[in-house]
Amino acid sequence: MKPPPFEYYNPTTVDEALSLLAEHGYDAKPLAGGQSLIPIMNFRLAQPAILVDLNNISELSYIQPDKGGGVRLGAMTRHHQVEHDPLIAERAPLIFEAMPKIATSQIRSRGTFGGSIAHADPSAELVAVSVALDGRFRLRSQSGEREASASEFFLGIFTTLLEPEELLVEVTFPAMPPRTGWALMEVARRPHDFALVGVAAVISLDDQERCQDTRIVFLSVGDGPVTAHHAAEILKGQVPTPELMRAAAETAAAEDIDPSSDIHASAAYRRHLVKVLTRQALELAFERAKL
Ligand SMILES: Cc1cc2nc3c(=O)[nH]c(=O)nc-3n(C[C@H](O)[C@H](O)[C@H](O)COP(=O)(O)OP(=O)(O)OC[C@H]3O[C@@H](n4cnc5c(N)ncnc54)[C@H](O)[C@@H]3O)c2cc1C
Repeated sequence: MKPPPFEYYNPTTVDEALSLLAEHGYDAKPLAGGQSLIPIMNFRLAQPAILVDLNNISELSYIQPDKGGGVRLGAMTRHHQVEHDPLIAERAPLIFEAMPKIATSQIRSRGTFGGSIAHADPSAELVAVSVALDGRFRLRSQSGEREASASEFFLGIFTTLLEPEELLVEVTFPAMPPRTGWALMEVARRPHDFALVGVAAVISLDDQERCQDTRIVFLSVGDGPVTAHHAAEILKGQVPTPELMRAAAETAAAEDIDPSSDIHASAAYRRHLVKVLTRQALELAFERAKL
């Protein structure tokens, strides 16, 4: 299928892009890697009259260290760049672990970090991982700039805080505290498909191996990233024994999610996967935190 007709603009600076978005409002859409937007347009699920191409804005593509051991990424940084970046491997290993699970290498060579976040697909790895790592997003429009945490930013299925005249320009991840472990577990029907269920877990321990902070965030079980608050509460202040991690996983499946059935999986199967994957993710995160 071919998309409906549209006007195309090719700005080379953020200011130029913002001015186009301000002028055209709801009629315009930013075009990043096009790996989601173009198929949606081909299926006529979106019919923007104007595309503002971000691909020639070099100031939006970078990976840089942030103060205190964090890392900053420009919105147009391609998935494949992130996948092979040593700073990401060192400072944000959960993201490093997530990248090869996203689609295929062909899609990762075009798709962008910011595009994935702005698209807010509840099945996207980077959406769940951003919440688990307490990411912060910088949004810019002609009238100014604002910041949002990942947990504030995602409002629902394909819905975020972004206004039509705004661009996501940067994503920042803070340093992980010492004695922090991470894991991303998922099940997909075929390698590189969107996951039927996925879970990102991050555990920070104190010097007696008690959980100081636990974040468990699911993908593909709701309208957005789903945080398992009840399960995390079970681990708070405790040494995470196998029994406790099993109990947390059971609580997550019973109390923290409300999955629905679709052509890919039943709600009951998704609940089962949540129980199994959460236990596995917590065990791996705990092992890594102890090292
Ligand atoms: C076959 C297939 C399989 C896939 N499998 C997976 C998978 O397993 N996991 C996964 O996470 N993803 C998957 N994807 C999606 C892929 O990761 C895309 O890269 C991602 O969804 C969108 O990134 P993009 O750069 O292509 O954005 P685009 O498609 O260009 O844009 C997506 C949306 O975000 C908006 N947008 C983009 N950038 C900005 C910005 N800076 N500011 C404001 N708005 C912006 C656009 O206007 C559009 O609405 C798959 C895609 C395909 C085609």
